[in-house]
Amino acid sequence: MEENVDGDNDHNDPNRDENGHNNTGDVLDERPSGMDDQETDNDDDGEEQPFDITLAATHSYMGPGLEAVRGREVVEAGWCGRVVVVAHHGAVFPGETVPLLLPRADHAVTLARALTERAMFGLLCPDELGFASGYGALCEVYEASAGGERSLSVKARAVHRFRFRHMPKQPYTLHRFTGEGVEMEVEVLPELGVCPPLQHARLQSLDPRRPQLPAELRRLEASVSPWPAFVYDMFDYTRMRQTIKEYFSTFRLEAVPSDPVALSFWVASNLQLQQRDRLALLLADGALQRLALELRLIHTSGVLCCASCLTDIARREHVFAMSSDGLHSNYTNLGGFVHDVVTVSRAHNISLEGGASHEYSWFPGYTWSIALCRLCAAHVGWRFDAMKRRLRPQQFYGLCRNQVRPAPTDRSHL
Ligand SMILES: [Zn+2]
Repeated sequence: MEENVDGDNDHNDPNRDENGHNNTGDVLDERPSGMDDQETDNDDDGEEQPFDITLAATHSYMGPGLEAVRGREVVEAGWCGRVVVVAHHGAVFPGETVPLLLPRADHAVTLARALTERAMFGLLCPDELGFASGYGALCEVYEASAGGERSLSVKARAVHRFRFRHMPKQPYTLHRFTGEGVEMEVEVLPELGVCPPLQHARLQSLDPRRPQLPAELRRLEASVSPWPAFVYDMFDYTRMRQTIKEYFSTFRLEAVPSDPVALSFWVASNLQLQQRDRLALLLADGALQRLALELRLIHTSGVLCCASCLTDIARREHVFAMSSDGLHSNYTNLGGFVHDVVTVSRAHNISLEGGASHEYSWFPGYTWSIALCRLCAAHVGWRFDAMKRRLRPQQFYGLCRNQVRPAPTDRSHL
């Protein structure tokens, strides 16, 4: 199991005391908590009720006490300024929703004061060795809990990539940025769009015939260019997007962004990748470069394995979206640890620890139980069970993206 960046050794269960005992008082085993007999009996007679995946994206478990943040500052590429930077255990890409909870009053007061001056913070991405990479996502706060609370709850959306304006000679440890974070001077990185690779050889007089003869005209234009036609095909955005669209249609994700930059981030958010590859995508300078790298990585994952012992945990085809944000989403627990979770309909080689609880459940209507790797007992995620029998799916798993890693080939014993 990778090091927990917040130093909390029990971050997988926010309700446990220091001895590992569950203290919620509402623990059940086979029967999920919160489901009474009367409700269950009546529930059997109803029609199947698909889970509303937009509910998960609202992060309603954070409670109703959050208020909209107004007057947000608009920043663009090249903008430099000081923002509070907080550690994350993975890479977050623009477009993703980021919930943040600071349970300690002193941390909450410090960050709340900083957010009053500038309603944004930086989420720092670790490098492959777990040090602060100096790169991350700038997040814009759109909801925050009212002042005077002992804790601070924030909902934000990642809007830009950033880098430290002054990179340290020796890498910072990630732990330095936990809690209320550290104010750093950052620079917003530019996003290069997509220019058709054969634009320079394009004959405008042939444009009226382009829809009827796309391949023939591409070959003609490539013949007067330095590279063979297949090289230009590799970087043809229409072709790239079509390949991506076909791949994600197997996960029933049909709403594929049309803008190249947005698409490149959307793909990065939804692919099952190792941290090394996710950081490479975050550092890519433009959409075309990022998309080309994603297309190289897109078919490399057949299974998800335990990151500690490489035991197979789930198959790629069982990944599905339980949130309108996509296959992966960020959720915070009561300890303030932000988990990057991928949802799968089935998992293997899992053992459950403790009982089920509905407290602070990321998916309304479901209880959660801690899921461990059966072989090495590393925490890999949670099993979620419906509290009503007509709710669909009845059961699924949420796997921590930093506790499982993709493997290139399938395994026969699954
Ligand atoms: Zn394991």
